[in-house]
Amino acid sequence: MPIELERRQWLQTVAAGSLALWGGTPAQAAPRFSEEDLSAARALMSAALSSGEAWRLASELATGIGARPAGSEGDRRAVAWAQRSLRELGLVNVGTQAIELNVWQRGPASARLLASASGDASRSLVVAALGNSISTPAQGVEAEVAWYPSLAALMDEPSDPLRSRARGRIVFIDQKTERARDGSGYSRSVGARVAGPVEAARRGAVAFGLRSVGTSGGSPPGPDAPTDAARDLGRIAHTGTTRYDLRVPMIPAFAVSVPDADVMAARVAAGHTLRLSLQMQNRSDVPARTHNVMAEVAGTDLAHEAVLIGAHLDSWDLGQGAVDDGAGVAIVSAAAALIARAAREGRRPRRTVRVVLFANEENGFDGAIAYGKAHAHVPHQVVAESDFGGGRIYRLSSRVQPAALPLFAQMAELLKPLGVEAGDNNGNPGPDAAFLMRNHQWPGLQLSQDGTRYFDVHHTERDTIDQLDPADLQQNVACWAAVAWMSAQAPLSFAPLPALRR
Ligand SMILES: [Zn+2]
Repeated sequence: MPIELERRQWLQTVAAGSLALWGGTPAQAAPRFSEEDLSAARALMSAALSSGEAWRLASELATGIGARPAGSEGDRRAVAWAQRSLRELGLVNVGTQAIELNVWQRGPASARLLASASGDASRSLVVAALGNSISTPAQGVEAEVAWYPSLAALMDEPSDPLRSRARGRIVFIDQKTERARDGSGYSRSVGARVAGPVEAARRGAVAFGLRSVGTSGGSPPGPDAPTDAARDLGRIAHTGTTRYDLRVPMIPAFAVSVPDADVMAARVAAGHTLRLSLQMQNRSDVPARTHNVMAEVAGTDLAHEAVLIGAHLDSWDLGQGAVDDGAGVAIVSAAAALIARAAREGRRPRRTVRVVLFANEENGFDGAIAYGKAHAHVPHQVVAESDFGGGRIYRLSSRVQPAALPLFAQMAELLKPLGVEAGDNNGNPGPDAAFLMRNHQWPGLQLSQDGTRYFDVHHTERDTIDQLDPADLQQNVACWAAVAWMSAQAPLSFAPLPALRR
């Protein structure tokens, strides 16, 4: 047998063996990235690790503009800044998509625990209205507190006001948010914030309060309990969206700082009755206009297909929106800028890399909805969003057709030196991107960030630039530049999206 033929047979046997690992058929070879594409990705990663671009962008947005709820003056300035920045970074087709919407505006809020017959002193509470909350009457609301350890405990009571102790009271839910790298503690507690006001009102409550959905406030009392001064540093209230049901009365809704909720819990544990007074003035349904911002690195032979890397440009009105989501805006913009520079130097991506900075993720998803409507006809190779602060990335997950999985294995291998492990094919690509994935059947990918500290400042006045770390941002940019580039170069489509499991 000629030596060449023998060698070819051996190669076929090896290929068939490796195919068995990813479940393909021996008739087709496993897709692989070329050495050229891999080395271009490594070059992007090394450029990212020595670039201060993301830190500069995050600083400009957080300290130069700061809070930017949709439709606000800050939002208008952020939209202008983003377009200018993306142009300066060398991206093309920079543009906006205008969105008309009604917005909610925060006014002053104050609350006080009243002195009790059991001898408890009156105490002013640090509170924040939940997004969309109505106002109290001008004279405020004063009532006894119906305290529950969790939303489930409230739901266990009959929804008939005549049979619930919520009736005529201020419902307070004391559900704790557990610290977790993957943010799973938030997923478990946030339901109380979103559904609490409706469930409380259904049972006849006059207002709704809850322990802030966040991990600020130090550790619970114990041998290592922080000092009072340290605890005071955590006296911040975490806002966030809530919603009403038109079939149920709307009641004012607010979050209490974690240390204040601890005081309330201690008084309840001692068997004392709590009485609380609350005053809040907010505005709802204010007509406004906001914008998605988009920019591209144009592709070559597959330019009609988009690799969408996104973040959301809006923030809550408290703090500077540095962590949520100034970090994401900076990371994906800086990553696209590196690919744009490579393109100018002759290494243009096959597919178009598109940066989308979504409008109003925080309180309505208007940006994602509008983007999906306007671009439904565009084939999206993948959608992914950076919206979990600036912590280091530790895992790459996908949501792609199984035949594309060997490519993700290669991508994970490439990111390994940055501390990234391979995840599964059940990734969540981020809030706006997940919406698009589900509604348009576009494949997704997820770069999981370490969120251990993310909920310390999430949606609070302490979401400020000092919470971000320049070196961590560089690691993020390196990962995003590499996966965006590889997705653009992939030798096969990531579609169709596999069946969704969650
Ligand atoms: Zn966010």
